[in-house]
Amino acid sequence: MAATPMMQQYLDAKNACGDALLFFRMGDFYELFYDDARIAARVLGLTLTSRDKGENPIPMAGFPYHQLESYLAKLIANGHRAAVCEQVEDPKLAKGLVKRELTRVISPGTLTDDALLDPRESNYLAAVALPAHKNNGDSTAGIAWAELSTGRFFAATVPAARIADELARINPSECLLSEEDTPSASVPCPPFPLPSGTMLTRRPAWSFGYDTALASLQKHFELATLDGLGFTESDSSALRAAGAVLDYLCETQKASLVHIDRLTPYRSGDLLEIDEASRRSLEITRTIRTGDREGSLLATIDKTVTPMGARLLADWITNPLTNLAAIQARQTGVTELVAEDALREALQEQLRGVYDLERLLSRVATGRASPRDLSFVSRTLSALPKVKAKITARKAALLTELESNLDLCPEIHSCLESALLEDCPFVAKDGGIIRGGYNADLDRLRDLAAGGKEWIARYQAEQAKATGIANLKVAYNKVFGYYIEITNSQKDKTPATYIRKQTTVNAERYITPELKEYEEQVITADDRAKQLEYELFLSLRESVQREARRLQATAAVLAQLDVLTSLADLARKRSYVCPTIVEEPVLKIIDGRHPVLDIREAQGTFVPNDCILGGEDGTVTLITGPNMAGKSTYIRQVALITLLAQIGSLVPARAATIGVADRIFARVGASDELARGQSTFMVEMTETARILNTATPRSLVILDEIGRGTSTYDGISLAWAIVEHLHDTITCRTLFATHYHELTDLTQTLPSVRNYNVAVKEWEDHVVFLHKIVPGAADKSYGIHVARLAGVPKEVNERAKQILARLEQEHLGENGRPKLTVKGKRSSKGDLQLTLFAAPDHPVVQELRDLNIDSLTPLEALQHLAKLQSRVAQSPQKTS
Ligand code: ADP
Ligand code: MG
Repeated sequence: MAATPMMQQYLDAKNACGDALLFFRMGDFYELFYDDARIAARVLGLTLTSRDKGENPIPMAGFPYHQLESYLAKLIANGHRAAVCEQVEDPKLAKGLVKRELTRVISPGTLTDDALLDPRESNYLAAVALPAHKNNGDSTAGIAWAELSTGRFFAATVPAARIADELARINPSECLLSEEDTPSASVPCPPFPLPSGTMLTRRPAWSFGYDTALASLQKHFELATLDGLGFTESDSSALRAAGAVLDYLCETQKASLVHIDRLTPYRSGDLLEIDEASRRSLEITRTIRTGDREGSLLATIDKTVTPMGARLLADWITNPLTNLAAIQARQTGVTELVAEDALREALQEQLRGVYDLERLLSRVATGRASPRDLSFVSRTLSALPKVKAKITARKAALLTELESNLDLCPEIHSCLESALLEDCPFVAKDGGIIRGGYNADLDRLRDLAAGGKEWIARYQAEQAKATGIANLKVAYNKVFGYYIEITNSQKDKTPATYIRKQTTVNAERYITPELKEYEEQVITADDRAKQLEYELFLSLRESVQREARRLQATAAVLAQLDVLTSLADLARKRSYVCPTIVEEPVLKIIDGRHPVLDIREAQGTFVPNDCILGGEDGTVTLITGPNMAGKSTYIRQVALITLLAQIGSLVPARAATIGVADRIFARVGASDELARGQSTFMVEMTETARILNTATPRSLVILDEIGRGTSTYDGISLAWAIVEHLHDTITCRTLFATHYHELTDLTQTLPSVRNYNVAVKEWEDHVVFLHKIVPGAADKSYGIHVARLAGVPKEVNERAKQILARLEQEHLGENGRPKLTVKGKRSSKGDLQLTLFAAPDHPVVQELRDLNIDSLTPLEALQHLAKLQSRVAQSPQKTS
């Protein structure tokens, strides 16, 4: 059966929108058909009905048009893409079938509506261009990422092995990849892991082509050459990725993208590198357990008052700096704001009145800004002079610079302010936007519309008087427009000139030619006024669009001010100190606190600790101590303090000197990392391997119970060898927390290892955790005490104590320590001697040593051999 013309229109649109679910506008509804309807019924909870209930019913589901945004949000959140097909002409005026067009395609990476976005989080669309000549040994890839809702656009060239880390840093909600790089539909994963929650979108290979990229970038930025952007010849992959992003945005948005006004090269060398596993482990922006923002470092330190500030702070914390001067510039700005309570509070107060200018501007640019959006731009501009006044005449260079960059955009402001009413509606076509006095034509039309209404009232009074019907009423309904209503009891007095239109139970309704004539004027005046308001709104929007660049620069200033104020607020409230930043790889933290626990625990209960590392003070710190003592907390706090210092923040400590780190690594032993379903020893070792292969003398490494994921001896041996390598070969600052107190013997052979342990107080049969890191090695593991605390039955505990005593007897040397090293016998690098694994000399060995082979005949040698063999066979080796 041939499709009806409308269904044909639907099928054409559906063909053009790929795998997106199509929302097809029909009158006051959006409808979905076929499989889309089935999916929508399941995901959105819509009722599945059917169209053409005859032989070939078409599955159908729909909802009223005003619910579009909320259904889109739900669909996107469920990992789908959606396309919207609108009626592009007034159905009342259409001859035949209403014209419809695909107006946009929405996917997680291309959202601009506030309803669909988290104001505090950036929402990036990324593309990865894999090496073009894989077989030539080319191992650099390109990554580009853009945020449609703010206009930010970056591209980077990275080693292919770092793609996953970069994606973890960017955390895009959608990632484009060439079809060619995902060989078949049966291979669902790209050749690198995507962050969880990132949607993969396959694109045709040509959209990743180099020439295509150059052409579309040049066209978009109106440049004859891309040289000025700061990319070099080796950046071709980065540009291919950027081209793919731009191509996808153009195709899906069908709107102006003027707010994406530059492509910024991203150079990771200027930034502190943190790989994906370390990010997760340090809970920088999300917690491990729940994956939520709440409880992360970011959520803890975030005192920003604008969405722009919240996003910029997230950006800073995911991209800490390595440049001393840049870090100090931020520090100086924050420090000045810490000192001035009144200024800081006033500044925050002003910033609270500011709207999300970045995202407002992106909607202006893409032609989706509502009248309300424009009025928010206007209100934001109204707040600016006071913000500027607050930051004039500051000492810190950064504050002075921000002050001078804060463009008040007075012309746009006065234009918007004189034009827009106080509270503008979301809808642009129903009036209620423009102030009286702004446009003479509009005022005239409004007078007419209002005058008409007055006229109706007057007409009613006149007619009542003329007819003598006191309760005669002029009223309005949608069917007849204005009419005169006369109740049945009075209907005899009705003049003959009235034209009857309708009879109701209690009354008759009439019209008159005069009434209709006025009605016409009133109604058209109202409509014409609305139309004119709409046109005025569009031209205002265009004038804002023309100044988008200036406004964007202003938005950037506001975001930075918000972040600096936020850091100052935090520092003041939590008594942070400004760390001294130096180039040398040292760490000196006095009375440091874990930034998150410090806030979460009751005030004053967190026990501060020092950390001294680098040079004479040793490069490797081993921290031993019982479970629950505070080892993990301590080593994390050192990493987090370093990270905070490198974003320019003050830090939770009494004093601190931080040597800039180029990389921070944080690894947790497999069995400690519970939340990660597939946590295996393999993962632990793979991640450790990466540290050993990529750490530099300027890195900071924290290892938490590494080696725990395998058997004890295996684990100790690995941990031992890893520490040796970090100590001897990499020589970087390392904190190693372990409950294997055997490792404390490392200080006997490695000069730069220091032992620390977490103090506990034993009291009768209990242990009390003091959470204080003190020099020296822990002397035992306390696991049994902890088991006791946890409520393991007493008998089990007593039995465990007996077993422990036996084991310790067998495995401890004469000095009462585990037999892991023989002091002083480590002759050269890597030649360690583990007595725990090498058996003590068997008497046979000594005999062998004493044997003078030169004096033996072959036969005697054989006899000796037989004798030795028999002795080894009958006497099983003793351990001590
Ligand atoms: P470990 O790694 O030694 O097993 P954790 O670092 O996980 O111990 O700490 C266990 C608990 O002890 C933490 O959840 C925290 O509540 C508390 N804790 C740790 N360090 C401190 C400290 N410095 N001050 C107060 N409480 C602490
Ligand atoms: Mg721990």
